[in-house]
Amino acid sequence: MLTCDTRDTWSQFLEYVKKRCSFTAFENWLAPIKVLDSSAEGIRLEVPNIFVKAYLIDNYKKDLCAFLPVNAEGEPVIEFIIADQGQQKPLRAPIVRTVSAPAEEVAEYKLKLNPSYRFDNFIEGPSNQFVKSAAMGIASHPSRSYNPLFIHGGVGLGKTHLLHAIGHHVKEHNKKLRIHCITTEAFINDLVDSLRNKSVSRMKRFYRSLDILLVDDIQFLQNRLNFEEEFCNTFESLINQNKQIVIASDKPPGQLKLSERIVARMEWGLVAHVGMPDLETRVAIIQHKADLKELKIHNNVAFFIAEHIYSNVRQLEGAINRLTAHCRLLGQDVTEELVEETLSELFQTAPKRRVSVENILKSVATVFEVRVSELKGTSRTKEVALARQVAMYLSKEMIRESLVMIGASFGKTHSTILHACKTIENKIKKDEFLRRQIALCRRNLE
Ligand code: ADP
Ligand code: MG
Repeated sequence: MLTCDTRDTWSQFLEYVKKRCSFTAFENWLAPIKVLDSSAEGIRLEVPNIFVKAYLIDNYKKDLCAFLPVNAEGEPVIEFIIADQGQQKPLRAPIVRTVSAPAEEVAEYKLKLNPSYRFDNFIEGPSNQFVKSAAMGIASHPSRSYNPLFIHGGVGLGKTHLLHAIGHHVKEHNKKLRIHCITTEAFINDLVDSLRNKSVSRMKRFYRSLDILLVDDIQFLQNRLNFEEEFCNTFESLINQNKQIVIASDKPPGQLKLSERIVARMEWGLVAHVGMPDLETRVAIIQHKADLKELKIHNNVAFFIAEHIYSNVRQLEGAINRLTAHCRLLGQDVTEELVEETLSELFQTAPKRRVSVENILKSVATVFEVRVSELKGTSRTKEVALARQVAMYLSKEMIRESLVMIGASFGKTHSTILHACKTIENKIKKDEFLRRQIALCRRNLE
């Protein structure tokens, strides 16, 4: 029997976790878990798949122990039931390598991965956190979670990066597994060559002997009827042997003009979307790429670039490359003027009017539900003081003025502004809600 008490314990655990993880992570991983039964001895949970179980244990074991009964080994007592997966294939034991291909074939299809497309180079934010976790889960436990993993999203948002990151991870941690990464174009070209050389069976043998197949840009299979069938056969043969497949595409499966059979197969596993990173993530990407080039960019300038290039990470990278070249050639520092000069044609909108302290105060007042006059005044109530510090923080981030000047607009010294900024920076590391409120202010100002 599920008693009120034990159900409460689980919801308390959820409440606790909710404050500590992102909204996306919560919705994707924790919200789908159902309590089936629970008693003073333990709890029985229904999870959609084994991946969610692993996620829960990997990330929250300590917290689970705090909320749930614990056994003699100090493990939380949880019985996991994997939900009925409908038409989804049952999960099987880890892959065992069964077929080994002749050495020459391995050499012929050498795994080519971009050396910088690795997980540790992939900057995470709300738009790609889920897909990154899914990719990492698959890289560490191939064939034991979702199969296939289908990644879709617009151009230049990191799909290929993630495919290669899986490749690197598997190559480094699981050397025995036979993995191959290929674009759909290359697959078709291989097939054409094999047909010409009458070596189709050799190619088939190669693909069917893989443990993990990473396929990029599946949209190129559209309108290639003759090849679709061969691809579909390879795909099914691997899936039937419980070999891991990951596919990247610019559209979700349902929007691809491919046969129903293959679309249905692609929808079997996990379909994950990668979106355009939000402003903060774009700034983090700019700073990361600039670091790699040993280029120093002030945060204000990074924001300025991120505000104007917002639909494609590849363009952000292009911007950094161009800036680096200019700065090196001219021996200049990266200033906003230089950015405007060198990047204006990459900008998706004309540089915006400068934000003023007055605008920031209005925006903060609206979001934090206080009055502008209170922000300007001396009230020390908790709400007003926090909102005031946010306004100072945003002013420092968004207005390209010295701290002394910003301080003067608030009737404060530059050290008060600095203190406010540090306080807010620390708070947003832990407080997702505050982070979102600030993002909202920023968006209103943009
Ligand atoms: P897609 O395959 O979706 O068109 P790519 O994977 O080729 O995009 O990514 C384009 C460029 O942007 C690559 O150089 C990649 O490293 C970079 N990139 C994309 N997303 C991120 C991210 N989240 N963090 C770091 N770099 C990224
Ligand atoms: Mg790509």
